[in-house]
Amino acid sequence: KVKVGFPAMLRNGVIMDVTNVEQAQIAEEAGAVGVMVLDKLPYDVRKAGGVARMADLKVIEEVMSHVTIPVSAKVRIGHYYEAFLLQEIGVDLIDESEVLTPVDDQHHINKWFFTVPFVNGCRELCEALRRISEGASMIRSKGEAGTGNVSEAVKHFKALYRAINELGAAEEERLRDYARQCQVPLELVALTAKMGRLPVITFAAGGIATPADAALMMWLGADGVFVGSGIFKSQDPRQRAEAIVLATAKWDDPEAVVEAQKMVSERAAMVGIDLKTLKPEELLQTRGL
Ligand code: PLP
Repeated sequence: KVKVGFPAMLRNGVIMDVTNVEQAQIAEEAGAVGVMVLDKLPYDVRKAGGVARMADLKVIEEVMSHVTIPVSAKVRIGHYYEAFLLQEIGVDLIDESEVLTPVDDQHHINKWFFTVPFVNGCRELCEALRRISEGASMIRSKGEAGTGNVSEAVKHFKALYRAINELGAAEEERLRDYARQCQVPLELVALTAKMGRLPVITFAAGGIATPADAALMMWLGADGVFVGSGIFKSQDPRQRAEAIVLATAKWDDPEAVVEAQKMVSERAAMVGIDLKTLKPEELLQTRGL
């Protein structure tokens, strides 16, 4: 059984991280298919340290009443009550996110328990299939959030498709082994192998900072992109938001991507973080592992 539903409407779109109504309105005006409300942008989560939790419910409700596009918000991994609260106030999508501080290092939320759809991050196929078997309706790469460096998202997408392509050519016996190894139902592995992709909408996330980054991730097989710090940590959020929407929707039209990339200046891009300068404990993608 796979939960799909509403996220299918987000195809070829951009979901933008926002921390207040003003940013949410900029996102909507730029053509975002959704906003993700959080207390701090991932870049600032890194800088602030401490415990990162769900955003203020009042801020989330205020955003919901000021935009017409779907509103998502992040909860801590394993935090059933943050998720219940978000379902109760009526958000459209919940991101169970490693960008916040996990509360359970063994188990993610059993998402079958909820009616609201969930998105989860992954770095490779087994992890994605575990989250889908727990009831996630949408998957995204983890990437390395808040760095402005798309290299980890690239790595995670390539790992995902390398494994899917390998399973596509495999015998039943291999699918069975893979299902056992990942601790997921054989039917889910077989469905993924047959479809040649995950059976749920799959977005890229983690470090996307330019229109070209977004187009790259679409070319690597993403159905759409999440942009976290890349827009509101830049010097040109309005133009950058519009440009990333254009590059994502028209990623296979070189003229459109050129136009999108020309809408922004490299000098206005967020200042990235070199992954080599991060200590292992500073990585968000491995939190709780
Ligand atoms: N990712 C994060 C951020 C985690 O906290 C955990 C563990 O809870 C995992 C991944 C691993 O979960 P699993 O091995 O079920 O994929």
